[in-house]
Amino acid sequence: MQNDFGFNFDNTYATLPESFFSLLGPSSLTSPELVLFNDELAHFLGLSTEAMRSEDGIAFLAGTKVPPGGVLLAQAYAGHQFSHFTMLGDGRALLLGEQITPSGERYDIQLKGSGRTPYSRGGDGKATLGPMLREYIISEAMADIFPTTRSLAVITTGEKVARETLLPGAVLTRVAKSHLRVGTFQFAAGRGRDQELKTLADYAINRHYPEAFQDANPYLSFYRAVVHTQASLIAQWMLIGFVHGVMNTDNMAISGETIDYGPCAFLDIYDPSTVYSSIDHYGRYAYGNQPKIAAWNLARFAETLLPLIDSDQEKARDLATIELESFSGKYDQHFLAGMRKKLGLKDSHEEDAALIHDLLELMREHKADYTNTFLDLTFQRFDEHDLYRLEGFASWRERWEKRRGTWEEAQALMKRSNPALIPRNHRVEEVLRAAVQERDYKPLKKLLSALKEPFAHSPEQAEFASPPESNDIPYRTFCGT
Ligand code: AMP
Ligand code: MG
Repeated sequence: MQNDFGFNFDNTYATLPESFFSLLGPSSLTSPELVLFNDELAHFLGLSTEAMRSEDGIAFLAGTKVPPGGVLLAQAYAGHQFSHFTMLGDGRALLLGEQITPSGERYDIQLKGSGRTPYSRGGDGKATLGPMLREYIISEAMADIFPTTRSLAVITTGEKVARETLLPGAVLTRVAKSHLRVGTFQFAAGRGRDQELKTLADYAINRHYPEAFQDANPYLSFYRAVVHTQASLIAQWMLIGFVHGVMNTDNMAISGETIDYGPCAFLDIYDPSTVYSSIDHYGRYAYGNQPKIAAWNLARFAETLLPLIDSDQEKARDLATIELESFSGKYDQHFLAGMRKKLGLKDSHEEDAALIHDLLELMREHKADYTNTFLDLTFQRFDEHDLYRLEGFASWRERWEKRRGTWEEAQALMKRSNPALIPRNHRVEEVLRAAVQERDYKPLKKLLSALKEPFAHSPEQAEFASPPESNDIPYRTFCGT
């Protein structure tokens, strides 16, 4: 049912067996304040930008009032966190409802940081302003680059939240095709009730891969679709230099959207061993490990589906293994195709993999900036880095130039495939500092605006494109913030 706010909820997750969620009441906060609101996304969702800014609108975004047609719930899930299996669930998130957009698509609207839930374990259920603004910036910056959850709003709660120091509390409104995770399936499988598992799988297929029902073995077909979607997603991360940072199975979405931007960051210098997260001591989620970890997570996903794939578990395992083994080939295809575009190559040749590998190896060896190297190639700026004066590079460039078609065409393709800027870690920190410490949102909004059209290559963007002046102090990110 529509209303002044534009909410048009149809809550299907709440029809799953009740073990999959906990119904919650509204939270209590006295002085929520809207600090960021995404008009464009609101419009896409069919929400009124005006009504959502009203007192009631803000109360919905704070979780203190139930929106018309909404059902507040926290979802149950499990997950392998740094390879250790744990029962989890939304410990600090609240689903408001599933919004049907004017174009008929279904999106979860979820609040992150809205208070304790039955899954909070020892946590306070809260989030702090810096990390919620960070997720807003990065998810919105990636919206035109790879599939991702989106950010509708950030509100401050008026509370102080105890971390290492007292920090301002905040709630992020996150929008996703769904919040079904590999971990949701692990939760269902862990309960050992095949009927519940089947209900969940049918639900996920219906919501994300309905064509799988046409297949003789819908659950195998569903698995294949998720494997291929993830192969494509991870290749896109790698192409942009994105390090997710916490690829636990509960942070891998069945929809193929990037989810949970906690400790993520972007490569400055190209180095596959790059790790930013302060808790990733062994580099499990290093940039270069991401494809391998995705495959590991997908193996855990397969294990949950075996009872549905075939009643003969050995046969089910063999069938799923074939699909899982297709991951690396699919990933390579996507990565190669994307790299060709970044280099302005419009067709494919056998020697491309070597051409790409050799460039990346030169970049690694000579500590070249990942994003800017591709921009330098795009704009033929060969005086920007020592790398370009090396003989090794000159011979690589010769091979590349021979391989390319006309420069105009190649350059146009490169401009469309190499972003003018990414949310540079040091730039993001700068604008967060101003916003959190001085409540000055101007720098943040300026950065958001520069990030909006990543392939515009405008002068406004060039200002944000420079790498950090020094890499002496490694950049660190934090989870559970
Ligand atoms: P994440 O690493 O952000 O994906 O979170 C892992 C799990 O910890 C999820 O189940 C979260 O809901 C939960 N969690 C993170 N922070 C908090 C918090 N402050 N209070 C309660 N649960 C939390
Ligand atoms: Mg998570």
